[in-house]
Order: sequence, then C-alpha cells, then structure tokens
Amino acid sequence: MKIYPVQNSSCNRRNNLSNAVDKNSRNLIVSNPLVSNVAFWGNPSSTDFQSAKRYLDETKAKLGIANEDLSLKNFDLEKLNGIQKGIKVFDGLSMKQIAFVSNNLLGLSVNHGCSSMCAHCYLEAVPQYFKEDSNMINKIDFEDFHSFMGGYEKLNKRLGFNALKTELSPYFCMFGDSDCIDMEMKDKSGKIYDFTYANDVAYKSTQRLGLFDTAGWYPKNKKLQERAEKIVKYFSEEKNSNKVIQIAVSFNPFHALNERSINLKNKGDFEGSKKFRELYVDRMVNVFYTFTPVIENEKFHCMSRSMLDSPNNPDGFQKKDLEQLADEVLAKLEKKYEEDYSGDKKYIKTPEQAQRCLSKLNNELKLQIREIGPEGRAENLYKNNAEVQEFIRKNKIEGEEELRAFSENLVLKLEDSFSDVDMNGKVYFLSSCASHPVALPTELQLNFKNKHKKTISDEADFGGKKITKEMIDRVF
Ligand code: SF4
Repeated sequence: MKIYPVQNSSCNRRNNLSNAVDKNSRNLIVSNPLVSNVAFWGNPSSTDFQSAKRYLDETKAKLGIANEDLSLKNFDLEKLNGIQKGIKVFDGLSMKQIAFVSNNLLGLSVNHGCSSMCAHCYLEAVPQYFKEDSNMINKIDFEDFHSFMGGYEKLNKRLGFNALKTELSPYFCMFGDSDCIDMEMKDKSGKIYDFTYANDVAYKSTQRLGLFDTAGWYPKNKKLQERAEKIVKYFSEEKNSNKVIQIAVSFNPFHALNERSINLKNKGDFEGSKKFRELYVDRMVNVFYTFTPVIENEKFHCMSRSMLDSPNNPDGFQKKDLEQLADEVLAKLEKKYEEDYSGDKKYIKTPEQAQRCLSKLNNELKLQIREIGPEGRAENLYKNNAEVQEFIRKNKIEGEEELRAFSENLVLKLEDSFSDVDMNGKVYFLSSCASHPVALPTELQLNFKNKHKKTISDEADFGGKKITKEMIDRVF
C-alpha cells in the first residue's frame, strides 16, 4: 500500500475490473436485505450504548427512511457514539473514526506479496518470502480476519443497516500487491483457508461482491494447481459466482518469464529467449485450460495489458506483441482442447464448446487490451519515451504540491475517496481529490491481534505525512 497512482495495472484495487465489467459495475453492489430485519441488540449495561440506541431509534423514526437506504451519513455521529461499545475490533475508535474507515472502504489486505514480478507492477510487488520475520507479517491472522468480519456484522445488526454500503466501490477487495491464487490464512491448528473461504465470509459480512484475479501459477506447483481447480469448482456453482463481480485472469507481456525472454532476445541469446517464452506461454495455456469450466460464465474476463504500439516504446511489450503472445497461447490451447474432446473429455466435450471458449478468449485477450500507465516498476519501461518522461516529471511536481496542500488543509472529499485496511489493522486513505491520487497513512488502527506487527506498507515512504484523528474529527 504505497502512494497510489491510479492508472492501469493488472492488479490494481481501484482499477481491476475488465473494460466490460467497468461499465456496469455501479449497478452490481450486492443488495442484501439481511440486516434490515435484524433485531437491535447490544450491551444493555452501557450508558453510552443505551443513549446511542435511543438516538438511533428516534432519528430513524423521524427520518422515515427504509433501513436499506440508510447510511452513517444520515446520523449525528457524536450522538451515535456508544453503539459500537463492546465490539472488539472497534475498541478505542469513535463513531466518527469508524465512519471514516467504513466510508467507501475498498477492502482488507489478506496477503502481501506476489511472485509474478511483472515489469509493469505499479505496486512494485515482491515475493512474500523476502519480507517475513518475527516483527513483520505478510498474511492476515485468522482471528483478525474474523474479528474484522464479525465486528462489521455486529455493528450492522445494531445499526439495522450496512455501514459498509457504498455507491463508489462496487466490490470488496482482499488483494492488492498479491494474487488471489496465493491467498491463504491459517487457523491455530495450521489448517489453510483459501480465497473460497475468505470470499464466502466477506460476502456475508460486508454484503458486497468479491473480486477474483490471478496472473497464474507454476503448472508443476501441485498445491496451487489443486487450489486453482478447487476455486474453479467453487465458481462453477452459480451461487458462488454470484458472490463476485468478476473472475479474472491477468494476461500481459510483462510477467517476469516473458520479460526475461525479451531481455535475452535483445542480448542475442535466442535459445534462452525461446525457453522463457515457452515457460510463460505454457503457464498461461495451463491457466486457461484450468479455468475452462468458467470461461463461458459472464463473470469471467481477461485483464489484458500492454504498452501502445509506438517506436518510442520497447519492443516486446507493445499491443502488437501482446496480440502475438495471445495467438501463441490460443494455438496451444486449441491443441489441448482437441486432445481433450477426442479423449478424456475432462473439460471440453465437443469441438463447438472448444470454439466458443477460444472465441471468447480471443476477444478478451485482443480487443479488451488496456494501456499501462508509467507508475511503479512500469516507469522504467518508458525511460526512452521523452513525451512520457515529461508527463511523469510534471505529474510528480503537481502531485507533490497537491499532496502538500491536501495534507495541510485536509479537504477530504469523502464522496469520491476510499479507505483501505491493512492486515495489521492500519487504515489508509486513498484520495482522488487531486489529479495525482494518493494513499496516505492515518492515525487510525483497528484493534487487531497483530496491531503491533509491521507489514510491507509500513516501509513505504510517505514523507512523514499522516492523516490525524483530529483532522478526521474535523470533517465529520
Ligand atoms: S507482480 Fe503480481 S501484483 Fe504486480 S501486476 Fe504482476 S501479478 Fe499483479
């Protein structure tokens, strides 16, 4: 969780919907009447709680608005203070502060770290094993995950409406600088819980749709192959695919394997280049083959990313290169499909089914390509493009000025900004009030068991800037 430029990267919490889904995403926030009929309950011995309850009931009666249309903005948060009493995860936070966290909450980081090492990764994700030690975590604690989810469920029951309801983020995201295939939590006995579990719990608690995205896995990694097949089986059931806004596979020429192939080719090592190219192509053929049972699902999309075709951009990473890469993958996948319907019929039963899947993939991989922005590691890809370099230079100056003005005056435009919770409970504020949107740390932290541990986000340099509790109290 660093300064968040909002551009097109393959794994980007704020921009990780395919073009097709993006258009209609705001209509897809899950509408769940669950909380509206739940009886009000809480800690009857707390005076704060009792007066907050009285205020809530009276205000609701005055407003006459249905529970499902209410939000925290309808209430005086000073008077509502106390309604959160006894909910462990909110211990030490006022209702104003809880409203700040809940307002357009984008998600909760379950894992940090990604081994794909894509050349365009604007979050500059690195593999998990680089970062773990006794003071640092890269996975959320199982208890903290449940404390967060259960805490919101309790709060929502007390309020009678969903504190996490938002028009701005159509989904609740549990990954940023990580891949959903790697998502895992362990309970005390060491049992591992993957994306399917996390998504079920989050869907029930936040009443928002989840989001799945993978850039693939090493095909010989038995654990991840089995996990991928489990995830595909999960999404094959309509009741589960209905719990996500999108099931996505990221495909691009920037993956470390293909980047290595390009670099070796540039050095004249054609044999080495061919080897790494095949490794990436075979990896993606296996990913698409594994996802075959859900390719025809309308929720399935490919996140196709490249640079524009231009002599100023490096060879190998442009749109034409991505199209060529897609052709290689699709040709091999077609052969695999032919073998399948002529033999075991594991996923493909007929030539017609094969053609339908290949046609959708062809469309998604070539027609839905988005250009990447020059952020994070991608900045390096534009180093010979004078026009983009000038844009980066200007944008940095403007961004720094806007960030300074923003943090001094704190004009928090809550309507179009996001918050984000890290796995140690720290809350970040993702502003879109400036032309150079940023993620800033805040003084707020949820009461997690791992609140004293650091994460990779703590290492980011924010120039000492932080949103204080006093600033937050001022805007509500
Ligand atoms: S390195 Fe990982 S997080 Fe970054 S763009 Fe690639 S797949 Fe996404």
